[in-house]
Amino acid sequence: MTDRHAVPPEPERDEELFIEFANDLAPSGDGAAGRMAAASALGAWMTARHLVRRRPSALRMVGELHEFAQLRDLVRGVVSRVAAGQQPTKTQVRSLNRVLREGVHHHVLQPDASGATFTVGQVGDELDQARAAVAGSLAHYLADHDRKRLRVCADDTCRWLFVDQSPAGRRRWCDMRTCGNRAKAARHRARVRRHGK
Ligand SMILES: [Zn+2]
Repeated sequence: MTDRHAVPPEPERDEELFIEFANDLAPSGDGAAGRMAAASALGAWMTARHLVRRRPSALRMVGELHEFAQLRDLVRGVVSRVAAGQQPTKTQVRSLNRVLREGVHHHVLQPDASGATFTVGQVGDELDQARAAVAGSLAHYLADHDRKRLRVCADDTCRWLFVDQSPAGRRRWCDMRTCGNRAKAARHRARVRRHGK
C-alpha cells in the first residue's frame, strides 16, 4: 500500500527500539477486545517513539497486528539465538531484510495550486516504515554493538530481552529486583528443602 503524507521526523536512532518493541507490546491479543487493546498500545507506542507522524486508526492497526506479531517473533527468535551464542539463521536474516526493504520510502516536492510555494511530502506506507525502523534497530545492534551482551531473561515466566550493561557481563535476569529476587528466593527454598528445615 502506498500513500502520500507529510514527512515525519526521522525516527530517533535508538539501538534498543527492538527490545522495547519485543518486551512491552504483545501484538497478538486474544479475542476482539484483546486485539483492540493490543492495537491501541502499539499505536500509542509508535506515536510516542515518532515512528509515525499521526497515530494510526485502531481499525488499521488491528488489520496489521499480524505483521507486527510476526516481526515480534522474528526479533525474539534472532535475539534468542544470539543470546545462546549462535548466529541468526539464513531465513531470519532474509526475513529481517524483507522488513527493511518494505520500509522503503522517498520524498516528493509538491507545489501548491498556484505553483508559488512548495511542501515536501513522503511516499511510502507509514506502518511498513515503522516496522522497518524496529528491524533496523536490531540490524544496527547486531552490526555495531557487542552481540555477547544480548540476553533473554533466565526467568522462564519472563523471557524479556535485555542488554547486559553490567561491568562483568554476567547478568542473567532482566531486573534483579523482580526476576533476580524470584530466582534467589527459589534457590533459597530449594536449599531449605535439601537440608530438611
Ligand atoms: Zn525477567
